[in-house]
Amino acid sequence: MKLSGIHLLLTYQCIFECDHCFVWGSPSQSGTMRLRDIESILRQARELGTVEWIYFEGGESFLYYPLVLKGVQIAAGLGFAVGVVSNAYWATDAEDAYLWLEPFAGILRQLSISVDAYHGEDDSTRQAEHARAACERLKIPIGVISIAQPDPAVAPAATGELPAGESAVMYRGRAAEKLASQAPQQPPDRFTTCPHEDLREPGRVHIDALGNLHICHGISLGSVFQTSLHEICEKYDPDAHPITGPLLSGGPAELARRNDLPLRGSYADACHLCCEARRALRSRFAEILMPDQMYGIFNNQ
Ligand code: SF4
Repeated sequence: MKLSGIHLLLTYQCIFECDHCFVWGSPSQSGTMRLRDIESILRQARELGTVEWIYFEGGESFLYYPLVLKGVQIAAGLGFAVGVVSNAYWATDAEDAYLWLEPFAGILRQLSISVDAYHGEDDSTRQAEHARAACERLKIPIGVISIAQPDPAVAPAATGELPAGESAVMYRGRAAEKLASQAPQQPPDRFTTCPHEDLREPGRVHIDALGNLHICHGISLGSVFQTSLHEICEKYDPDAHPITGPLLSGGPAELARRNDLPLRGSYADACHLCCEARRALRSRFAEILMPDQMYGIFNNQ
């Protein structure tokens, strides 16, 4: 596995609980990196020698503002291109947005703002505009991530079929539970490939606050706090892996078939079937299909 990008899930916590969220971000979530965790991951990323980009995301990364700022400073100092994903809840007006972003000037290569109706359309749009204006003044490149709401009358759309800048919902994480029933349904034997992740040779992966390296959200290849990032990458055998092996050979349909899982008549998309199959397999593959946070089980429940 040759990684060029690592996305740090700085925290599972968020001020919102969006229906489309892959990682079940919520005010009730738990799990936040410490500074020493960030330093360890960045050191390991540097040792790999192939990583170019480091992203800080969550949850909502700016909830831990001193931590994300320090993390960006360290990562930029190590020579990485650095990005941050945020919902811009903090951009209450143009001047305050500038105040929050000024320390990132010159070291942040991309601020990605997630803005859509799931955040409350009016507030979200206004805050994104304040963040954009501040970024322009500070010469910080800014991008916008927007998820289109599912339309029950239309099959899941490819990005190119949606308004510019919008992506279709992928029915994984909380979206599999909250939104999948609103989408047109298809039989499970249609889902014979993983459409969104390169499970054989992923260029980028996510590492969560517990150190878990996720090849897709909730499929952990191990914790970089227990096994080195280098060793995890070296040892990964995609075809022999009990979860990615079936997904590569026949998609979520094969994952369910190989494990004798009963299937319903229809699913919203491949991720919906994959998430339901993985949820049913968690007790069999407890070391892989984890942590609880990625399956909507909060520690305080
Ligand atoms: S099919 Fe499964 S592994 Fe592939 S992107 Fe969807 S949830 Fe992830």
